[in-house]
Amino acid sequence: MLSAMKYASPTTVAEAVDLLGAEPDARVYAGATDLIPQIRAGRPEPAVMVDLKRIERLCAIARRGSTYTVGAATPTADICAHDGLAAAFPGLVEASGLIGSDQIQSRSSWGGNLANASPAADTPPSLIVNEARAVIAGPAGERTVAASAVATGPGATSLSGGEFIVEFELDEPPARTADAYLRLIPRTEMDIAVVGAAARITLDAAGTVAAAAVALGAVAPTVVRVPDAEVALIGRRPSGDALVAVEAAAAAAANPIDDKRGTAAYRRQVAGVLARRAVAIAAERASQPGEQS
Ligand SMILES: Cc1cc2nc3c(=O)[nH]c(=O)nc-3n(C[C@H](O)[C@H](O)[C@H](O)COP(=O)(O)OP(=O)(O)OC[C@H]3O[C@@H](n4cnc5c(N)ncnc54)[C@H](O)[C@@H]3O)c2cc1C
Repeated sequence: MLSAMKYASPTTVAEAVDLLGAEPDARVYAGATDLIPQIRAGRPEPAVMVDLKRIERLCAIARRGSTYTVGAATPTADICAHDGLAAAFPGLVEASGLIGSDQIQSRSSWGGNLANASPAADTPPSLIVNEARAVIAGPAGERTVAASAVATGPGATSLSGGEFIVEFELDEPPARTADAYLRLIPRTEMDIAVVGAAARITLDAAGTVAAAAVALGAVAPTVVRVPDAEVALIGRRPSGDALVAVEAAAAAAANPIDDKRGTAAYRRQVAGVLARRAVAIAAERASQPGEQS
């Protein structure tokens, strides 16, 4: 049977909002690297597929003052090729570069990665440790929320009907700050994370941790922040006992499931190890003059 699915390609945010308002069963997409496989696997077809990539704002990377804005549909290949983002957020850019293959990267976006709300998505932990904000457009205008508030469970988001993410805002990190992201996949080819760990560390002039953020992916329905690891680091050098405490806190914060990629016990152990290593890498980067903002 022929599909009755329609295609729309708005060129402004307002036009996209109107399209979504006119057809409740319309669905936005950016790269469609999640959406098309899901439809092919049997998920219901939307009445209208709304292509966000023709809207200039959704594919733009800009810096206004000390804030970067990254369009929610910007291909991750463009993000990885952006020198300013790579210098300011090396871990977030690394996470972006892990998505799929070169072909996938030419389509995949942060907006799709976050709004698809897979617990194993690679960029949300790094967006969250960098305190990214999502600018959301909808029938009531625009609102800005923490990126951490978008995914609410596997495949579920806090976006209401007719809303979509326009762009992400990221503040230039303070001096002596850097991030890192590590993930474990069960094979060397494309796969999704068994565990992902993101860390962002700010050092003071003496090399002591002044601020820390640690977040885990693929170990719970949504990204897990690890406040006990953050507390264990602040005021200490990021080495020795402090890293042992990070590992223990991350393993304890993980709340994983058993599945074909790993048992819950394995995931907890890996969460601890990756969090410790991600913190150590972020701290090392933060200590290198010129390597961070
Ligand atoms: C072969 C392959 C390998 C992959 N490898 C990885 C991997 O290693 N790591 C990983 O994390 N993911 C991986 N993925 C999944 C996918 O590529 C990523 O999640 C990607 O970032 C999705 O972006 P997209 O623009 O293609 O999303 P789309 O498919 O366009 O959209 C995904 C979902 O988000 C919604 N959406 C899209 N944009 C917006 C927006 N701006 N506002 C609101 N809702 C929106 C859509 O309606 C849809 O529900 C892989 C996929 C494939 C096919």
